[in-house]
Amino acid sequence: MTRGTAKARAVTKPAVKRIARKRAPGKDTLLVHSGRGRGGLVNPPVERASTILHPRLAEYEASWSADRFEGLTYGLHGTHTAFALEEALGALEGCRRPILLPSGLAAITTALLACVKSGDHLLVADSAYGPTRKFCDVHLKRFGVETTYYDSLIGAGIQSLLRPNTRAVFCEAPGSLTFEMQDIPAIASVAHAHGAAVLMDNTWATPYFFDALAHGVDLSIQAGTKYISGHSDVLLGSIATTERWWRPVRDTVADYGYSVSPDDCYLALRGLRTLGVRLRAHQSGGIAVAEWLQGRPEVKRVLHPALPDDPGHALWTRDFTGACGLFGMELQPVPKAAAAAFVDGLRLFGIGASWGGYESLIVPAKFTRTATSRRFAGPLLRLHVGLEDPADLIADLERGFAAMAKRA
Ligand SMILES: *Cc1c(COP(=O)(O)O)cnc(C)c1O
Repeated sequence: MTRGTAKARAVTKPAVKRIARKRAPGKDTLLVHSGRGRGGLVNPPVERASTILHPRLAEYEASWSADRFEGLTYGLHGTHTAFALEEALGALEGCRRPILLPSGLAAITTALLACVKSGDHLLVADSAYGPTRKFCDVHLKRFGVETTYYDSLIGAGIQSLLRPNTRAVFCEAPGSLTFEMQDIPAIASVAHAHGAAVLMDNTWATPYFFDALAHGVDLSIQAGTKYISGHSDVLLGSIATTERWWRPVRDTVADYGYSVSPDDCYLALRGLRTLGVRLRAHQSGGIAVAEWLQGRPEVKRVLHPALPDDPGHALWTRDFTGACGLFGMELQPVPKAAAAAFVDGLRLFGIGASWGGYESLIVPAKFTRTATSRRFAGPLLRLHVGLEDPADLIADLERGFAAMAKRA
């Protein structure tokens, strides 16, 4: 392209182009245009392979002496279907090739295994996902790694818990089931000054609503099972890392023998295209339902950082750009049978594990806390607001409360 004269540049079009070139593409644009098919295909094909054939021995040997993660080497390390998903997810996370795992939990445990060794000390948020705690308490303990749980509200105060052998800090915000926000940048700056890695389970906000790496996280973990795939038919995990951590984490994942099937990569990539529109709908539906619940006499409090009176609202507003459809509510103290009548009285909210699909779900919240004194007097429930009409979900909850009134 030739440069125009000063006069030509004065007209609108080049000026717009100059701005467009400076401005980074938005996340929705990245999600649509990254990781596309080749040769005119909009989508990459599902490439199933264990063996990759080479024309001659020299090429075969070269493929193994070179980086096993570059190009096609062996099906374990992925084919173009996985590479396309890595590219699209990387565009969203703001990093090179996030590392794929067959579940969110596998991403958590492998990320931890890549960061700690026998004799190390680990700090984990008290409100981390339950199976994360179990992995630390049972398996990391067995390998000689000691875990201390910290109050999610600790912020820069985490300094007081650091030991000379503290190698990693594991965050999750908002916390599983109790939805406490954390001051991630404050925790990251203290941890980094100490030389500890910062890991974060960013499943709730996804990289769409929270740029974990830009806020000081070194290893950002996603249960792609949830909103990334978005349709309750895939199990997937990913770890997005800073440059420093990519090789050790990628090697750990390969050395443990993890691989994600190309079919699941294809489904996740298909879900990822619409992450933005889905999340915005989950957000507005979730807030509408949460606000309605706040006005109900049966509800003691709603745990949702996007609500202005939530204790985590200021942090959420400062660091996050949106909220998903998952939140909690504490009922006024009622007998267990009454809470069960409420849940059983719902027709649109399904009863089942996991979340992040297009459908609404509800489950009672069961959790362990050892570093926090906050307790709940009434039954705690976790709601996932799906993509149904919010008015129908509200009518459904009203039906549940009517069923509960009969049992109270
Ligand atoms: C569901 C979940 C996971 C685990 O994901 P799986 O794919 O089910 O293993 C991890 N972290 C959080 C916060 C979750 O909600």
